[in-house]
Amino acid sequence: MAINSKLSPYQAKRDFSRTAEPGGENAVAPSEVRRYIIQKHAGTRLHYDFCLELDRVLKSWAVTKGPSIDPHDKRLSVEVEDHPLDYGDSEGTIPKGQYGGGSVQLWDRGYWLPEERDSAAALSKGELKFVVEGERLHGGWVLVRIRNRRMVEKKNNWLLIKHRDKIAREDDGGALLAADRSVASGRKMADIAAGKGRSPKPFILATRHKTSPDAIWNSDRGSAAELRAAVVTSANSSPKTIRSKAVLGNAPSRRPNPSGRRPVPKRLNRRN
Ligand code: MN
Repeated sequence: MAINSKLSPYQAKRDFSRTAEPGGENAVAPSEVRRYIIQKHAGTRLHYDFCLELDRVLKSWAVTKGPSIDPHDKRLSVEVEDHPLDYGDSEGTIPKGQYGGGSVQLWDRGYWLPEERDSAAALSKGELKFVVEGERLHGGWVLVRIRNRRMVEKKNNWLLIKHRDKIAREDDGGALLAADRSVASGRKMADIAAGKGRSPKPFILATRHKTSPDAIWNSDRGSAAELRAAVVTSANSSPKTIRSKAVLGNAPSRRPNPSGRRPVPKRLNRRN
């Protein structure tokens, strides 16, 4: 099952044998420039999962307060396990009580470029400078690992900080984070939680087919089977209501994207 050994911690937490949740097996569209995505995740606590494509996985940080375009703000970013690239197209709901349970909204996406050639080395040194060109985030940013001798065990805490450039603002007043619309479907968190509205448009997957707007995936071993059993039982009494929710992982089509590479915005090539 191991597609990429870097994904083992991620895969251990989810049961891919029972659901079709993105697990690194779906065909990914080629891209000349690395992709970046942010998922707004209403888990136990609301946070923003900040993901950068690197070496065929998504390096991931949970930004507890979300990104800020004020260079004075240093946003705590907890490094989490690498995610499969195809996970970056996921929008929907993980049932409550499971790992990461809650709704996931594709809040931003686009491309990123590192300032230094060797991003893996920059990450291991604990300082990654980069530019992003997304729909909501732009310009220069830095991720810096927090060094704290007294808290040696907390090696996974980083800070996400906006570079001082023409996009930086000191008087944003939280306007950026007030945006509650998916960049993939235009939906608010409440719409996603209700399984309503448009389907998310694929960005990373090599498909033109949209996933279902009421995508539900299960992250706990065995729970998918329980949910399936519940669906079968309930389907006998009220087939309509249950069937609309009975999407156990919407396996995207594996048909390769006939158009090939997607265009990359010119702005990214210009350092801000
Ligand atoms: Mn998360």
